[in-house]
Amino acid sequence: MAEDRAVIDTTSPLPPDPATILIVDDDAAHLEALSDLLTTAGYRVVKARDGHQALEQVRRCNPDMILLDILMPRLDGYEVCKRLKNDPSTVFLPVVLITGLDGLEERIKGVEVGADDFLTKPANSLELVTRVRSLLRVKRLHDELEAHRRDLEQRVAERTGQLQRALKELRELDRLKSEFVSRVSHELRTPLQHIMGYLGLLADEAIGPLTPEQGRGLDTAVNAARQLERLVRDVVDLGSARVGPLAIRPISASEAVRVAITMVGPAAAPRRISIAADVPASLPAVMADDQALARCLRHLLDNAVKFSPVGASVEVRAQLAHHGRSVRLSVRDRGIGIPGQHLDKIFQGFYQVDGTTTRRHGGAGVGLALAKLLLEAQGSSIHVESVEGQGSQFYFELSVAREPKSVSDESDRARL
Ligand code: ADP
Repeated sequence: MAEDRAVIDTTSPLPPDPATILIVDDDAAHLEALSDLLTTAGYRVVKARDGHQALEQVRRCNPDMILLDILMPRLDGYEVCKRLKNDPSTVFLPVVLITGLDGLEERIKGVEVGADDFLTKPANSLELVTRVRSLLRVKRLHDELEAHRRDLEQRVAERTGQLQRALKELRELDRLKSEFVSRVSHELRTPLQHIMGYLGLLADEAIGPLTPEQGRGLDTAVNAARQLERLVRDVVDLGSARVGPLAIRPISASEAVRVAITMVGPAAAPRRISIAADVPASLPAVMADDQALARCLRHLLDNAVKFSPVGASVEVRAQLAHHGRSVRLSVRDRGIGIPGQHLDKIFQGFYQVDGTTTRRHGGAGVGLALAKLLLEAQGSSIHVESVEGQGSQFYFELSVAREPKSVSDESDRARL
């Protein structure tokens, strides 16, 4: 081995933090020879004389690699290798088993216990240093990868923590906002009731006769107060996500359409927007709550008017659908339309496509969310089709009410 030493390149500068190699051999002479060789090649060497000492040194010195003799008293090299490879903290520590010259069986057994490489005894110094270098390179790459993984894991954990905290804060803010909106809306109810009460007394001339001018002024005040009353009710209902109790029974859709059109009239007239109703008299009754249906249609019509240009026309249609099992009601306008990316969001409470303070159209962003809530409470669902710049169509279906006769016919049949 002495003549081999001349070939080892010792001129290259030592790494600033040389790798630590643990050599395990019960043969003192061989142990020293290997140690000299590797020290000369620039490595830090730790030694062990048997398997137990080897495991102890691994714990103490955390080496970068092990050169392990197989035949040793008490704990042999296979057993040491097996234990290291079964331990998650040392599974990636490279183990080079030192086998005899004719060591095929030893190598097979070494592969089984997880050895990374083999060296024949007596070791050729050039081969030894080359193997050590390449295994250490692999180990270093692995360590870097592992450090990178841990760093990533830590960063992901930190970001997840930050996001969770932000989400918690957002939820808390959202809860406070809902609570505030609902509290303010409730607080507005009582003074509004007083206003409505006194306006009613004035309108009935119970407090004294009104001049025509006072009458007109009073009408404006009553309309404004009613509008406010409806908004407060909408916000309270939306805040509590409840619109009940509803009385779902057979009703005429045309009556709900008529009521809704009347309510929207004052907003449509000044902008010369006509509202056409196409509701055939022959349509069967539908299962719905008349007030809830009118309220829902009012919101859809309100939007159709609001988002249409002056002089435009809006249509409400009712027609049979699903082979006469339901009636489909739709509100169509030829107004500004809704960009596709907003279509799935407009039914969320307080969502507005143009939510800027400079937006031209009024509204509190509650109409569609409430229409959705009202329809769901009646077993229906709302849909929209819209093309930006061309207009929108909102529609839903209600079940046709069964004739009382056919209901009893069916129950008779069921009994037979
Ligand atoms: P708002 O009080 O703002 O009208 P809504 O909940 O009724 O609140 O509607 C939510 C948003 O959906 C509106 O602000 C508007 O951006 C859009 N939108 C609803 N209906 C129409 C429509 N017919 N045409 C164009 N945009 C509409």
